[in-house]
Order: sequence, then C-alpha cells, then structure tokens
Amino acid sequence: GLKKHFPIADTVPFKSSKMAVKAVDGIDFDLYKGETFGIVGESGCGKSTLARLINQLITPTSGTVNFNGVDLAKLSQKEIRSARKSIQMVFQNPDASLDPRKKIDYLISEPLKIHNIGTKEERKQKVVDLLSTVGMSAYHAERYPHEFSGGQKQRINIARALALNPDVVICDEPVSALDVSIQAQVINLLKRLQKEFDLTYIFISHDLNVVRYICDRIAVMYLGRIVEIGTFDQIYQNPKHPYTKALLSAIPKESPFDKKERTVLNGDLPSPVNPPNGCHFHTRCPFAMEKCKQESPILQSVNQGHSVSCFLHE
Ligand code: SF4
Ligand code: MG
Repeated sequence: GLKKHFPIADTVPFKSSKMAVKAVDGIDFDLYKGETFGIVGESGCGKSTLARLINQLITPTSGTVNFNGVDLAKLSQKEIRSARKSIQMVFQNPDASLDPRKKIDYLISEPLKIHNIGTKEERKQKVVDLLSTVGMSAYHAERYPHEFSGGQKQRINIARALALNPDVVICDEPVSALDVSIQAQVINLLKRLQKEFDLTYIFISHDLNVVRYICDRIAVMYLGRIVEIGTFDQIYQNPKHPYTKALLSAIPKESPFDKKERTVLNGDLPSPVNPPNGCHFHTRCPFAMEKCKQESPILQSVNQGHSVSCFLHE
C-alpha cells in the first residue's frame, strides 16, 4: 500500500493548492532473498521515488516497507541508519555519489567511517579488496573520480555500495548513462557479485531490453502504480497488459523474420498531478473501452505469480 504524494507547492514554485504529484500511488510487492526484481516504466512513472521510499531516504505518505519482518517506518533514526547498511543504492549518474575533490580511497571507505567500522589500516585494506572485487586495482585508490570513465565510476559506486556488506542493493538505472558496450560489462559484474555476496537486487530501468539480461521477476509501472508483475518468462513470453506489450514491442527486432506485432502508443505520459480517471492508461491504450474511462482496474492474479491490472483480463 505504499504511497508518496508530493504537495504541488513543493514542486512548482508560487503555486499553493491541495493538488499533489502522485509519484507512487499504492504499490504492493514482495522481494525474495537472492532474486533480482526489475522495476520498469517510462521516466516519470515513480520508479526512483519508489527506490527512495524502500530505503527510507523519504518517508511514505502512507503504506509500509517491511524488511525481514520489521516495519522500517517504526524504527528510530538510529535504527534506520543501521537498517540502511543492509539496503544500499547505486544511482544512474555515476558522479552523483562521487565527490570530485575526494580520492577513490576516501570515497569507498566513507561508509565504513560513518558506521565506525574497522581501523584506518583495515579500511584501507577493505578498499583494495573492494576495488579488486569490481575489477579494478589498489593503484586506482589514489586517483580522483575525473580520472575514470563512466563505466569505471559505476564500478567504484558498486564497490562503495558493497562496503557495508548489504543484503539488498537497489540499482536505479545503473547502466542508463553508459555506452551499450559498457552496459553489458557492468551487468555481468552485477551478476557475478550477486553470486559471490549473496545479494538481492532491485533493478530499476526504463528499458525492458536491459532488464532482460538480469531480472528474475519484473514489475511494470505506469503513473505511480504497478500494472503488471510476473516472472521473466511471464512478462517476456506472455505479457498481458497493453502497456507491457507496447514496451516490449519497442525493443528492436532480432531479425527481419521476427513477426512480432508492434503496439504503438498515442501521446506522452500524462502528468502524475492529475492522472486520467479510471484506468490511468486509457488515454494511450489502443484497447480502451467505455468502462476504462470510469473505473480503475485492480491488480489481479491471472496465473501463479503473474498479476495484471486491466479489464481485458478480469
Ligand atoms: Fe486498456 Fe482498459 Fe486495460 Fe486500461 S483497463 S489497459 S484502458 S483495456
Ligand atoms: Mg528515475
């Protein structure tokens, strides 16, 4: 039941009204240990807000995040800090968490310092270990962020996220800013680290083509809500929601004989301030019926582990 509504005055200067940006508007899902859970949708659908809600960087308007059976909202500030050790983030912009004035050694050991872990010497050694884990070397510890490529910076960010031995790593568009050839390297690195460190990932992307190389289960988001959720096979082989189908049909064909039909969407993503009535997707859905303009479909199971929110599948 997770919701985050930002009052409009926070986002638009000089406007005060009761309207709100419904960035995340009632979301439910489970995350299983050891899996990679993909969250996919167009930019502006609430994915990053959802990521920040999960590790309590922002507080929900309503709803809860339970981690190992504990409601994170009920923890004290001190307990939250300690819980956050277990849930780390890697952001889209590789520069976002790398202060350009600090050496890599400082940047990777900073989380250890904040949490008072190890002596200075132990932390130095840990940085070297972490760098080698992500395919870099001790030599890089003495350099500054600007001396690295985007892909290397993302490796450094991953090393930093691993410093505290997290259980969960939330990757918010971790490869979107990188060249396609580098994307595959970073995804392969994430896969290897997952096995090595027993990690659980939440992998956020606007691109179903990227997600397919790493995710076990996928949730498709549209305007703050999950419209379809299922396993990798269910989403890719048997998508049910017209929006999922449209996202999939935008992936380039593998061969000229690929007879996949294309679903083309009308218009742009509507504003989350005043989302359309009924099914949020009706303004762009090629199958919209009269009912879709009035009533909101709910997420319903169509198969074991596969749920969809669409009147065509009731
Ligand atoms: Fe399209 Fe209606 Fe299904 Fe919404 S409920 S996705 S508008 S058919
Ligand atoms: Mg985002």
